[in-house]
Amino acid sequence: MLKTLKEVINNQSGSVIVLITLALLALVASMALVIDVGLVFAQRIKASNAIDAAVMAGVRELPQDPLAAIEVAQTYAQMNGLEIEEVDFEISEDQRSLRGWVNKEQPMYFAKVLGIKSGQVQAKATARLGPIGSLPPNAGGVPLGVSQEELVFGETVTLKEGGGGGTEGWYGCLDFLSLTGGNGGAADYQHYLSYGYDGSGYIGYGTLVLEEPGVMSGPTSKAVNYRINKCKDECDRDCTPEDYDPDCPRVVITMVGELVDKKYFEVHSFAGFFLQEVAGQGKDNIIRGRYIGLYIPGAEIDEEMTDNGVYTMELSE
Ligand SMILES: [Zn+2]
Repeated sequence: MLKTLKEVINNQSGSVIVLITLALLALVASMALVIDVGLVFAQRIKASNAIDAAVMAGVRELPQDPLAAIEVAQTYAQMNGLEIEEVDFEISEDQRSLRGWVNKEQPMYFAKVLGIKSGQVQAKATARLGPIGSLPPNAGGVPLGVSQEELVFGETVTLKEGGGGGTEGWYGCLDFLSLTGGNGGAADYQHYLSYGYDGSGYIGYGTLVLEEPGVMSGPTSKAVNYRINKCKDECDRDCTPEDYDPDCPRVVITMVGELVDKKYFEVHSFAGFFLQEVAGQGKDNIIRGRYIGLYIPGAEIDEEMTDNGVYTMELSE
């Protein structure tokens, strides 16, 4: 009887040891998985952030310079810890979007025991450019209106013409105070031309702005010269339409649209402009410069807007 009991106990401790061993093995295996899977997960987040940063930086070179877009994206990917052979970039046919992928192996440390040598780290992102639907606050909109037909890219043009500039009696000046129900004059016109629109009024497709009557020659010259002098004082280079400081005060956004009821200007889209000179007095007062492509952060894309090269960017998977 006693012997039998001992045997039973011995047998049972044997199976307990087996059980404990199995449990420990399972525990170690699951810990290994947790650690390694955690590592792969962390790498995925890192890769995803890196590819986001890469396409967002690269897309800003589009549509003008696809090669530069890829180069910038690769540089940003590397700066964020990815190897060049782990990433791929592709530009869409319309040259408005930049797609990027990461595909890399993350070596396993503990899970090797279970025969799993590596985990796959994948991430992708697409950054897309499109025309802005409205001007975000303090984006640099100036109280000058032009018609779509007047937009000529790639050459120096006259933005504000003397002598009524084709549209009888109107010199292209706008009254931004009317956006918030006011009625402005020379002083606020000069302010908005010098500093860009800093009021709270909405400027988007269909916004009606009162025409600023009169030639506004003095305020125009003062404001444009203020910007040109500020450029000379503050910019990191001698700015030109082809190569300017990103914060250059010579870069402005003009309103593109048409006159309505001989009183209002209806905004249809926006165009970037690099101010080269202001000259002449009274009815001979003119602004000369070039239309340029512009990137506006913090705005929203509106594909319905006419594409005049003032873009913002959206990020998607
Ligand atoms: Zn400048």
